[in-house]
Amino acid sequence: MKKVIVIGSGFSGLSAACFLAKDGFSVTLLEKNEGLGGRARQFEADGFVFDMGPSWYWMPDVFEQFFAQFNKKVSDYYHLVRLDPSYQVIFQNPEQAGAPRDVLALPADMSELEKLFESIEPGSASKLRQFLAEAEYKYRVGMGEFVHKPSHSLMEFADLRILSSMMRLQMFTSLSKHVRKLFKDERLIQILEFPVLFLGATPQNTPALYSLMNYADMSLGTWYPMGGMHKIVEAMADLARELGVEIKTAQEVSRIETNNGKVTSVITTDGHRYTADAVVGGADYHHIETRLLDPENRNYAPNYWKKRVMAPSSLLWYVGVNTRIPGLKHHNLFFDEDFGLHSEEIYTNPKWPSKPLFYASAPSVTDPSVAPAGCENLFLLIPVAPGLEDTPEVRARYFDMVMERLERFTGMNIRQHIVYERSYAHADFVQDYHAFRGNAYGLANTLLQTAFLKPKMKNRKLSNLWYTGQLTVPGPGVPPSLISGQVVAAEVKQWSAR
Ligand SMILES: Cc1cc2nc3c(=O)[nH]c(=O)nc-3n(C[C@H](O)[C@H](O)[C@H](O)COP(=O)(O)OP(=O)(O)OC[C@H]3O[C@@H](n4cnc5c(N)ncnc54)[C@H](O)[C@@H]3O)c2cc1C
Repeated sequence: MKKVIVIGSGFSGLSAACFLAKDGFSVTLLEKNEGLGGRARQFEADGFVFDMGPSWYWMPDVFEQFFAQFNKKVSDYYHLVRLDPSYQVIFQNPEQAGAPRDVLALPADMSELEKLFESIEPGSASKLRQFLAEAEYKYRVGMGEFVHKPSHSLMEFADLRILSSMMRLQMFTSLSKHVRKLFKDERLIQILEFPVLFLGATPQNTPALYSLMNYADMSLGTWYPMGGMHKIVEAMADLARELGVEIKTAQEVSRIETNNGKVTSVITTDGHRYTADAVVGGADYHHIETRLLDPENRNYAPNYWKKRVMAPSSLLWYVGVNTRIPGLKHHNLFFDEDFGLHSEEIYTNPKWPSKPLFYASAPSVTDPSVAPAGCENLFLLIPVAPGLEDTPEVRARYFDMVMERLERFTGMNIRQHIVYERSYAHADFVQDYHAFRGNAYGLANTLLQTAFLKPKMKNRKLSNLWYTGQLTVPGPGVPPSLISGQVVAAEVKQWSAR
């Protein structure tokens, strides 16, 4: 039986481990941290249960398809509920910057959503129908075919059917243009542009292909696994163990050993050596290249990394509040400041943002198990440029800024009810995950960093080393990371059969 070592227990590593074990490999997964899940770890403090990273469960079909390949269902592992409203957006008051003008809650039901659009901009309901029909086509082609390609070269995309659909997929027009052609109201535009912020680029720099995210948002819906997003990690780890994967935590790989163009073993910081017939690196691509491999075995030179456009990092807080907070939904987007200025301060002119947008999640609105009775669990996130200097003073300043706006919106003094608070930013991403420049979501999905233009899955110098995860194909996000693990496992299987 061939032995494969998987480095990292994020979604991509866990997914790769499951598929490899199913394909008959003997798989050992090594994770540096005590907890599994990488950026999607969870922790408990004072009766609160905090998901540390992802909080939006989109594309439920991808999770269902993942488990189906092992003859399992999502419901075998966790209970999923659809959120209604999907989320609410708090907008800017043009007369008084910072004070919300109005609040739009996005209904899960499509006819209600169309009514909401029509009430804001007459004629927009039918345009939304048209927009989502195109987005559905892109979702079917994009998620059905594109994302499953290992993207070694352009030739994989040279299939006539795919080429002929390129125009319909709108690879060469920007999402911003596409949205603005149909809608005029700034609030509707922001609602349609916001999902690409997940992809880590401005709507101006993101191909309109990615309106497939609007289909995921509005048509497929926003879901939540009761108990928190970490339920997905637990489910995948249970499945992996069932399939025979040996999962070892607190095992940080410090070096990949090679001989004659092949990986022979990996060594951990505590001196363990694990021999391997093949290795799949699910840790940050840049970390594997620059810290675990000798220079002559790397795919990319330092200059390559300098030129990558990174998705934003995040300044986060996990907050426990000893009372319920009126007016909050499960997901709340505070778009009560200038969207354009914040984007500019992330991408064009990277610095700590002057008046950031932020996101507040209160999973305790849906799930009583994540907070003590009568309390609220708050997860706060400001997207910020990667690579900024991260100090306690900066974090404290932004905490006050976010709290002021939350208090203004809810009409409540939240600060006096805080019983737990922990912040998390660049320095933590670097320390906990070896994240390149403290990135949260990997590389931005710009046109020049899409598909075969992403860092390659296969190491070109070593015949039995692959990469998986959000810095390679298909990209950032939980569903793409699951798919990344599946694609890399298929590559290893093919190599092994040769
Ligand atoms: C704050 C935040 C919010 C997000 N929100 C969403 C969301 O709402 N919805 C969504 O779909 N996506 C979201 N994402 C993105 C999503 O979480 C990620 O794309 C995904 O989890 C990445 O998985 P991964 O396997 O590529 O990497 P990771 O989760 O980073 O896993 C890599 C693993 O490798 C381990 N590792 C690193 N170095 C070593 C080493 N030397 N030895 C052993 N192990 C090592 C790390 O500890 C880590 O466990 C969010 C991400 C963040 C950070």
